[in-house]
Amino acid sequence: MKTPTHAVVGFVTAKLFGFGRGQTIACVLGACLADLPLMLAYVYFLMSCFWRHGHYDAAYIKALMDGIYFEQSWLLVAHNMFHSPVSIGYLSLICLICCVGRSAVRRILLAYLAGSFSHSILDIISHMGDGPLLLWPLDDELRMMGLFSHWFMGMPLLVEGVAVILLFGFYVGSRVARV
Ligand SMILES: [Zn+2]
Repeated sequence: MKTPTHAVVGFVTAKLFGFGRGQTIACVLGACLADLPLMLAYVYFLMSCFWRHGHYDAAYIKALMDGIYFEQSWLLVAHNMFHSPVSIGYLSLICLICCVGRSAVRRILLAYLAGSFSHSILDIISHMGDGPLLLWPLDDELRMMGLFSHWFMGMPLLVEGVAVILLFGFYVGSRVARV
């Protein structure tokens, strides 16, 4: 999914957990920043493409991105650290162990990881063969064939627009029901 959708889902996740202001911000950041390494790699290859070829070359950039996305690389580690459910589970455990006695820090970090988890679930169901590694760091290959691909033409606007409207509707509905 695209970053705005992840932001909305992170926000709704925060509200479902009943997070306060600081935790909500952490949760939305966790939902949005999981793709940061991917974006940085794309910008680097985009600049490299213009430097070498003087124009945009989609095939050239895709080949470079696939090379570090699917193979052992810094991107595989950085990307799946906050995409793999197993890795997020490990990080949550580390956070619980290391932040004993620092409950404010622990709450913020766990809220950030809750946002990362919402991002992971969305990516798992919206990628067909190029989603998160499900068991990383235990396994370097297993990915789920999602329900649909958000790369499909027309899908981003159609599905993501509907998703954003539904989630906001759900959130507003839950607020009204509580009043
Ligand atoms: Zn992602």
